[in-house]
Amino acid sequence: MASKIKIPVDAHMLTLLVSEHKIEEYFIKAGPGQARRRRRVKVQIEVPPEIDTKRLRQGFSVANEIWKPADISFQLRQIKPAQMTAPLNKKTLDKAQVHDVARKFPAKKGVSLVVIDKFTEKSLGGRSIQEKAFCVVDTSGHPAFGGHLAHEFGHLLSLDHLEKGHKLKGWKKLINYNLMYEGARAGTELAPEQIIQARASNLAQRPS
Ligand SMILES: [Zn+2]
Repeated sequence: MASKIKIPVDAHMLTLLVSEHKIEEYFIKAGPGQARRRRRVKVQIEVPPEIDTKRLRQGFSVANEIWKPADISFQLRQIKPAQMTAPLNKKTLDKAQVHDVARKFPAKKGVSLVVIDKFTEKSLGGRSIQEKAFCVVDTSGHPAFGGHLAHEFGHLLSLDHLEKGHKLKGWKKLINYNLMYEGARAGTELAPEQIIQARASNLAQRPS
């Protein structure tokens, strides 16, 4: 029986700060009465992730269930609220901006996970930078949050995407049942060779 691998994860619940301009009305004294004026004011809009800490924990339970056959578990070490001026001043995060976010939330002995509301690219549920043990997962309109989390953790454990038609040793099902299937409707299963590769990855070998 393989020994259990425990990987600590620091989760940052990231609220993006977007500034917008709006027109505000105000009144000034004018003779015996008042006169209406308009001015442009800057307001700050907060875009928090859709899920709360309870759903984050549920997501971890789902992800750990998926990774159970590999005897790898992800341990939520801390959950921190965080704020950041939105790159490009947008309410959604472009995948090209993920490196900017990674610089602000570097991994410290384990994984750094940033939870956001939405990616700009609609089909994207998450994004990982393996060498930085860093990933971003979005939450808005994604009931399969735990599955996305497990998929991104797969990338951090060195697993690549599987395309249609990919052959895995001992794998008799359709490839889209696999956790690392490339596409929104990936499954949750792992092949023996993926388990071996994940357990041999840098992150699994030196989780903390
Ligand atoms: Zn992926």
